[in-house]
Amino acid sequence: MYDVILIGGGPAGYLAAERLGRRSKKVLLIEEKYLGGTCLNTGCVPAKTLLNSAKLYVHAREGEKFGVKADPSYEWSTVQRWKNEVVSKMRAGIAGQMKRFGVEVIEGRGEITAPPLGGKPGRVKVTPANGAGEDHQGQAILVCAGSVPAVPPIPGSRENPRVLDSTALLSVETVPKKLAVIGGGVIGVEFAGLFSSFGSDITVIEMMDEIVPFMDQEQSPLLRRAMKNSGGGGTVEFKLGCKVEKINDAAVNYTARDGTQESCAADLVLMAAGRQPVTENWGARTAGIDIRPNGITTDDRMRTNIPGIWAAGDVTGKSLLAHSAYRMAEIAAADILEYLDGTQSVSCIKNVWRDNAVPWAVYGIPEAAGVGLTEQEAAAKGISIVKASLPMRVSGRFAAENTFAGQGAVKVIAAAEDLRMLGIHAVGAYASEFIWGGAALIEQELRVEDVKQMIFPHPTVCELIKDAVFEIH
Ligand SMILES: Cc1cc2nc3c(=O)[nH]c(=O)nc-3n(C[C@H](O)[C@H](O)[C@H](O)COP(=O)(O)OP(=O)(O)OC[C@H]3O[C@@H](n4cnc5c(N)ncnc54)[C@H](O)[C@@H]3O)c2cc1C
Repeated sequence: MYDVILIGGGPAGYLAAERLGRRSKKVLLIEEKYLGGTCLNTGCVPAKTLLNSAKLYVHAREGEKFGVKADPSYEWSTVQRWKNEVVSKMRAGIAGQMKRFGVEVIEGRGEITAPPLGGKPGRVKVTPANGAGEDHQGQAILVCAGSVPAVPPIPGSRENPRVLDSTALLSVETVPKKLAVIGGGVIGVEFAGLFSSFGSDITVIEMMDEIVPFMDQEQSPLLRRAMKNSGGGGTVEFKLGCKVEKINDAAVNYTARDGTQESCAADLVLMAAGRQPVTENWGARTAGIDIRPNGITTDDRMRTNIPGIWAAGDVTGKSLLAHSAYRMAEIAAADILEYLDGTQSVSCIKNVWRDNAVPWAVYGIPEAAGVGLTEQEAAAKGISIVKASLPMRVSGRFAAENTFAGQGAVKVIAAAEDLRMLGIHAVGAYASEFIWGGAALIEQELRVEDVKQMIFPHPTVCELIKDAVFEIH
């Protein structure tokens, strides 16, 4: 019998397994496809590996402006081989970690057949791809089944070989000359940046009036402008407020904002209309777990409504990001340890899920990142704010490393009442690397005066946060 059985070996599953294994718990991790889940196999890591090749290509093309001459070209098959090499090395690394912490990994589909009840362990059946199922017992069960691409019912999109989801596009054999992207969320925008850097002409068709819904709306136009000409030879055109009606082969027909019928002809179409939590196939109904359309309901310790069953990561629908999955996994693991043997985590703040300081990033050329409230969110909550925004070009580091096309900015938002830091948003190089610092300021509830007394390294792009804070007050 196991102390804990985990269903799903993505970031939430493998991190929780590691944390529990470190504490000498007997852990079983069930994964039906590949260790590492979406993030490692078809998400964050392969996308950023391709993006790294794209950046090298763009930088080489732009080198002349910086005094470095080259005649760059790229070989897509090698780009793909490097991506696959990175993914398989990282996958082996996770398998190694599982071994190191004594976590048993079984390949197959995990399904809860009985929840833990009245001191009795729960049961999970594991069915391998070819073979009969086998039952396992666990005192606690943690569901980390993740999410899959959402498929909107657009006529002509299903079983159309020219309409791909992000997983298929990551491994496409040739770079399309023209790519239509349905959806201007993070994935759509990242792939638009990626493929335009490899020379594709992109049209992003988005139903809302702006791209990336959680971005501060003063910053999204900056990102759109900066993305127009990637430096890799391709272009990006954004069609906002446009509703896709149907797809004919690879031509996307849509109703434009003014009501006119338009069509965008492409070689391939990326369907990037969001992701949905996996709520089927792992025994949710048998276990009696409360499921909403946007995921499994949990409390702030990741407990489901069924005692002895926890959930973490995308499957909860709380925040569909890998680092959120990691954090939820840590909280669930700590709570499971408390459930199993009464150990309490030693931290000065309560070890629960908080979503006021979850950083996000859009990785492209340029990057965008943010944490905390946008100006629009603050207004919706009735919080009156003070704010300041500084263009990236005033940073020495940024000026040294970038051409003056496609500028970004750093924006800080504080509460007017007590000058508490509420939001930090950035478009431009390194944004994804320094945004954690913004999360720390918000998480620690620091005031503008506190940030003024901190020392930021120079020359960096992140010191614009401090400069902007001085502009506030
Ligand atoms: C193209 C793309 C790019 C992304 N880029 C980023 C990024 O840059 N940064 C970021 O933070 N996030 C990014 N994400 C999101 C990130 O990948 C997810 O938030 C993260 O993978 C969620 O982790 P998870 O463990 O909850 O679920 P997943 O990673 O989806 O893992 C769930 C696992 O459970 C397995 N599973 C499901 N059901 C069962 C079952 N019944 N039995 C056994 N196994 C099962 C699945 O096979 C899967 O391996 C990206 C996503 C995509 C698609």
